Amino acid sequence: MNSNVLQTPIVYLKGVGPNRAETLQSELGIHTYQDLINLFPNRYIDKTQYYKIGELQRTSSDIQIVGKIVNIKTVEQKKGKRLVAKFIDDTGEMELVWFRGQKWIRENLKLNIPYVIFGKVNWFNGTFSMPHPEMELWEDHEKGLKIYMQPVYPSTEKLANKGITNRVTNKLIQQLFLETKGRFKETLSPGLISELSLISKAEALFNIHFPKNQELLAKAQFRLKFEELFYIQLQLISKNLMHKQKIKGYNFDKVGTLFKTFYEQHLPFELTNAQKRVIKEIRADLGSNAQMNRLLQGDVGSGKTIVALMTMLLAIDNGFQACLMAPTEILANQHFMGIKDLLGNIGVNTALLTGSVKKSARKLIHEQLENGELHILIGTHALLEDKVAYNNLGLAIVDEQHRFGVAQRAKLWHKNDIPPHILVMTATPIPRTLAMSLYGDLDISTIDELPPGRKPIKTVHRYDSNRLKVFQFIRDEIKKGRQVYVVYPLIQESEALDYKDLMDGYESIARDFPMPDYQISIVHGKMKPADKDYEMERFVKGETQIMVATTVIEVGVNVPNASVMIIESAERFGLSQLHQLRGRVGRGADQSFCILMTGHKLSLDSKTRLETMVGTNDGFQIAEVDLKLRGPGDLMGTQQSGVLNLKIADIIKDNDILKTARYHALKILREDISLQKHPVILHAYTQLVKYKNIWNYIS
Ligand code: ADP
Ligand code: MG
Repeated sequence: MNSNVLQTPIVYLKGVGPNRAETLQSELGIHTYQDLINLFPNRYIDKTQYYKIGELQRTSSDIQIVGKIVNIKTVEQKKGKRLVAKFIDDTGEMELVWFRGQKWIRENLKLNIPYVIFGKVNWFNGTFSMPHPEMELWEDHEKGLKIYMQPVYPSTEKLANKGITNRVTNKLIQQLFLETKGRFKETLSPGLISELSLISKAEALFNIHFPKNQELLAKAQFRLKFEELFYIQLQLISKNLMHKQKIKGYNFDKVGTLFKTFYEQHLPFELTNAQKRVIKEIRADLGSNAQMNRLLQGDVGSGKTIVALMTMLLAIDNGFQACLMAPTEILANQHFMGIKDLLGNIGVNTALLTGSVKKSARKLIHEQLENGELHILIGTHALLEDKVAYNNLGLAIVDEQHRFGVAQRAKLWHKNDIPPHILVMTATPIPRTLAMSLYGDLDISTIDELPPGRKPIKTVHRYDSNRLKVFQFIRDEIKKGRQVYVVYPLIQESEALDYKDLMDGYESIARDFPMPDYQISIVHGKMKPADKDYEMERFVKGETQIMVATTVIEVGVNVPNASVMIIESAERFGLSQLHQLRGRVGRGADQSFCILMTGHKLSLDSKTRLETMVGTNDGFQIAEVDLKLRGPGDLMGTQQSGVLNLKIADIIKDNDILKTARYHALKILREDISLQKHPVILHAYTQLVKYKNIWNYIS
């Protein structure tokens, strides 16, 4: 098809005109012929079946029946009147009902002649009825072009009010096929079409709008879904491969003394197989001459820190500095202490830089960073300041990357002549399928195994009315020497209210757990960093048994002796947040518990969230449920990325098609990155890059 024809403004299509064109544009974003072809039906109504009145069910689907009208009457009702026709076949009788257009209908309906009627069936007062049925004489129905599967297009109230009903949309698309003769150019290569037994583009477009039967519809859907996902993957993967070709990276070709000494003498435990695997993946990147851009995902407690540390040692062994950025002071602090502890006297200079580091100390850090004395810098956003300049930064690690924006990550790129290698870590696991679409331009490593010997955390749901029992349980656990977290939600919009909840909660706990038998820490966002640290310290050292906190403790904090996590108003937390919070316990050898406290009134979604938490400890499974509850649009990063504005494929349901698409995109690009041997794909790809729209390439 000549591309100009498909770019024709929709106003020129017969049957559209200026008014409808404006409505189509504003309501459905349809500007051109091409946009209209790509308006895919939401669902289809099966017209291959004819029902008998005697076998009607009380469901609400649209159905088709053959029968005759035997009489018509007007029935007065409170407001206006309705027209009622008695409709029969050889198995029973039902009513057809009209509230509008009664005069016209009455004059035109024929009695005792077979009709095919179509519509939704209602059940009322022991009779089936069909309001405003679509009707056609059986004779005409037999003669005419049969539409077997009627497409139902996306609609809005405004469209309907302006007379652009489903029928009209359907007619317009028919007209479009007439004008273009349905000759659409192929957009996938002959190789892919034969390998996957795909139907042609033209056939797919015809059958998506006017499917002849279920089988052809399925083929059309498969072909178009595949195509959509294939081109998205092609874009992401080619970006990634180009990046590797273009962005030179420092080559860490040595596995030096530090790495070896640490591995042999300082490692406090055996690495899990998953940890070993991801370290291997990272090492391959670092020695490839290209800049590493890798996402390391692993459930809470899966041991990402040690992987980060060993990667940093590789950098230092090769004469570079490394930095590790964390989203909160508490976490940066803990990383700093933990890493210093692990390194012992191995001879690596490490410093901590956060907002609360004093000016003089800060100056010293800046100096040592620039003259190369410092090997590792750990800190918060403070690391991003322009004043922080390195002698030779070779690796930047970002922990809990979802807390940082893309722009912040990019800032790290400019901290050396050639961009340093980047490793971002997250404990908010993204289902793999989604990660593939979201972060196709990042490489992904996954730690899918917890260190051995962890007892699964026992999770229960308790109502506020059972608080006394819960308190008794806390007392028992503390008696055994354990420590307890009590967490309150803090959601920005209602901060003042939440803060009051927290303080009320704290007071009530202080009453039930009085000094001197019990010591309580409290940490929340309004405290000065120094006070927070002090309280946190006391809890870490075991001087306090209870930590009352807001979600500031959500990220990363590690207190192995804490074995009970109480989450107040648990219904107000999202699933991934609940899972993160729960991950604060279960870090030691003792049996750990997570108690989700709620009121009695719970929404359906809240119930699902609580049941999921009680039912599983697996972060990936939880992420899948989260995705289903919230939809991908709400997940972090998806909005900006725009890759999820899919027209026909469904990122969750069409998981297997996504995998196939990714496999083929990768295979093609690996062999032929410039797509010279795939002219059809190259053409489509060039179009979609040019128009920034995946569906703008049929031409
Ligand atoms: P996260 O992935 O949540 O950041 P951490 O790196 O904080 O997890 O590790 C959680 C805990 O598990 C730490 O106490 C760490 O020392 C311990 N750990 C990590 N790897 C192993 C391992 N292979 N064997 C035993 N314990 C481990
Ligand atoms: Mg961590």
